Amino acid sequence: MQNTIAIVGRPNVGKSTLFNRLVGERKAIMDNQSGVTRDRHYGYGDWTGKYFTVIDTGGYVVGSDDVFEEGIRKQVKLAIDEAQVVLFMVDVDAGLHPLDEEFANVLRRYQDKKPIYLVVNKVDSTQRFQAAGEFYALGIGTGDLFPISSQSGSGTGELLDAVISHFEEEGVEDPDAGIPRISVMGRPNVGKSSLVNVLLGEERSIVTDIAGTTRDAIHTRYNAFGNEFILIDTAGLRRKAKVDEDIEFYSNLRSLRAMEESDVVIVMLDATRGIESQDVNIIGLADRNRKGIVILVNKWDLIENKESNTAKEFEDKIYDMIKPIKYPPIIFTSALTKQRVHKAIETVMEVYENKRKKVPTSELNEVMLREIEAYPPPSTKGKMVRIKYVTQLPTHNPVFAFFCNLPQYVKESYTRYLENRLREHFDFTGVPIGIVYRKK
Ligand code: GDP
Ligand code: GDP
Repeated sequence: MQNTIAIVGRPNVGKSTLFNRLVGERKAIMDNQSGVTRDRHYGYGDWTGKYFTVIDTGGYVVGSDDVFEEGIRKQVKLAIDEAQVVLFMVDVDAGLHPLDEEFANVLRRYQDKKPIYLVVNKVDSTQRFQAAGEFYALGIGTGDLFPISSQSGSGTGELLDAVISHFEEEGVEDPDAGIPRISVMGRPNVGKSSLVNVLLGEERSIVTDIAGTTRDAIHTRYNAFGNEFILIDTAGLRRKAKVDEDIEFYSNLRSLRAMEESDVVIVMLDATRGIESQDVNIIGLADRNRKGIVILVNKWDLIENKESNTAKEFEDKIYDMIKPIKYPPIIFTSALTKQRVHKAIETVMEVYENKRKKVPTSELNEVMLREIEAYPPPSTKGKMVRIKYVTQLPTHNPVFAFFCNLPQYVKESYTRYLENRLREHFDFTGVPIGIVYRKK
């Protein structure tokens, strides 16, 4: 990504404090838009007219004591791969630390590849300002060091001035706009982690989780098969130290939060077990939350002696169980052999497009008024409902407003009729659609 800054450094130097300061205001704005709090380790900021992305690498990669070296190497690699400018942060309060030297040793290899700024944090006083000089000994960076206080913000302006001088372009205000946010739901062992691993590729296992902190909802922006998307909470799925999964997955607050933040929810079923009541619940919940839904019947490779109608029978059973919901597409996959994983992600992208689709009002009226004329709302209590006009509302999810004389007299069955006709004429596969009546 263009205009990207990465912050590296050992734990507790203040990386996430600086991160929050740099993305602070913008973050608040975006959180407001989606109505949820996003807990992420990359964010967007701007400074004197340039937009940039910040990555707190420490949020992604943390080594436990015995694998610190590995953790440092990964953090630095992530920073060098993803960013144009790297901020190497140290802590004047703690002084020069052996791990700072280890970071410097790894970073030094990349010095002529990317600008690396040595940022001395927690310089809250003049006294500390003088102490900052000891970090020159690290022999890293552009030669200067930047004393800052992430907490008060002092010095960050000078730092940003220097950093953005490397950015030639203005940057983009919200780089995530138009990129689908996806989560993977399903009971334990259906193959969620396996799917995520296929999508992300084994090599790219930069995302590790941090035990004992609240930094859990990690979002990974990824490109697979030419499609860009953001996977929500991949950390929870990729952490294969196998936390005790006795806790029922669906009652897990974490997965509910992941759903809330998603545009499209992948619900994974196990082909060897069929659809179970918890699966039905999660689909119902996604429907009520107006999420796009794609159902995967995974472990399809384990179904032996497949007849030509085996898949069809599976589908019928699923649709029967989730009635009256009938819009989610169903794909038969194997995360093990990778069969139809590509198809699955393509379908997710289509569902996302359907979710954003706006049908032009003229086309909508032409088609729907004809259908309404062919089968008008039945009269109730002698009242005749006349629908005169229909328009799609400018909402995030497809909602159609039908203008009529007596909104309160339209029956539920007629709403279903309208929904079916809408789906017949316009492709809304995978997305719930809303129908409202307005008085005209
Ligand atoms: P990280 O592990 O590198 O992300 O570090 P954190 O951002 O979590 O900060 C570690 C601790 O240092 C927290 O208690 C912060 O409040 C504190 N801290 C961060 N920046 C400053 C600063 O500029 N001055 C002082 N005095 N403390 C700071
Ligand atoms: P999760 O708990 O939902 O994340 O499930 P995992 O991805 O950990 O998978 C649970 C087990 O099922 C592992 O042993 C996987 O290798 C296996 N598995 C996952 N997907 C498939 C599949 O499509 N076919 C087969 N045969 N096994 C699979």
